[in-house]
Amino acid sequence: MTQDDHRLDEAKAMPIADVVARLELSGLVRTGGELVGPCPQCGGRDRFGVNLKDGVFTCRKECGPHARGDQIALVQHVLGLDFRAALEWLCGPAQGLSAAERAERRRKAEANRRKQADIARRARENSIRAARDIWFATGPAEGTLVRDYLTLRGIDPGLYPDLPQVLRFDPAARYMIPVEGKPQEWQTVHVGPAMVAAVVDTGNRVTAVHRTWLDLDQPKGKLVLPDPRKPGETLPSKKVLGSKKGAVIRFLTPPACDTMIMAEGVETTLSALIAEAMPRRCAYWCGVDLGNMAGRMQRGPGLKYAGLPDMDDSEAWLPPVWVKTLIFVQDGDSDPKLTRAKLLSGLRRAKIKRPGLRGYIVHAGDGRDLNDILMGQRDA
Ligand SMILES: [Zn+2]
Repeated sequence: MTQDDHRLDEAKAMPIADVVARLELSGLVRTGGELVGPCPQCGGRDRFGVNLKDGVFTCRKECGPHARGDQIALVQHVLGLDFRAALEWLCGPAQGLSAAERAERRRKAEANRRKQADIARRARENSIRAARDIWFATGPAEGTLVRDYLTLRGIDPGLYPDLPQVLRFDPAARYMIPVEGKPQEWQTVHVGPAMVAAVVDTGNRVTAVHRTWLDLDQPKGKLVLPDPRKPGETLPSKKVLGSKKGAVIRFLTPPACDTMIMAEGVETTLSALIAEAMPRRCAYWCGVDLGNMAGRMQRGPGLKYAGLPDMDDSEAWLPPVWVKTLIFVQDGDSDPKLTRAKLLSGLRRAKIKRPGLRGYIVHAGDGRDLNDILMGQRDA
């Protein structure tokens, strides 16, 4: 192998999705421009990502900061080969492949890619179906622990007498996690009461459920559940099941309004709603998570905090056309610079797609969110 080995260019020119397909990596799910799933070396559930546009992969956990790179590095990582062997696996021996061998490899890669797309589509359909099954089995939230939980969080029944249809109650919600080392197998680690919110797409169809497991003996009313796989660590008390990309929780949409306030969390959105900055003239929607509000951002050197939307992300959330003013609520966060960049990305995308739209970011203050303020007020 020499520096001018033609195979280096050849490897670089391969779509990384083809390399993934040839490696027959299973269990990766397409989310935005990434394939995400368990790391072929260290497992987990979603720590491994392949960015299809940039042609790089990363393992965010055990394999560490060196487990990232291009097509050749991916082959090294998955198959445990050195650079030379990985290059040969990808492009054949240095003397090159015959045209027939090349064509055969392309055919195989294409077949694998189709298979993978099929698996991803079925996984998405199954998760949406599972989310709908959960949603339609829930009961009304009024008079249940959901009301008590919201009251504990400062969302007072006096200020918020009618709970919205998009919030419901499941007295026995199953909390499931993947079995370590077996990404396709799931285990139930808790069954208990949960607040369930409907996450809906642009056509107002339920595509995901957002669940918060409740324990009113805890200061914030949320379940504290130890992670059986990691001593000393706890599992998140909230989970989203289904397909949430581009979807939201619609708490309030008054007729003929043209302003929308959107926060990341259920509690922060409701906190803004009951504060009634703009009574009955404003829609209050919950963006479910920051990544969903931002859409895919442009990546590359120096772009992490630039907040520039990647306009190729065709599945990113956009405000409905009637929104003339869009206000994002920024929560206190461990990385406020990145949070702001993501919100800017979402606003800029919306402004490009909806000419004339006005966009603002409001901030609750360092290290806290709107609900912290509300709870503090109530306790004071
Ligand atoms: Zn790994």
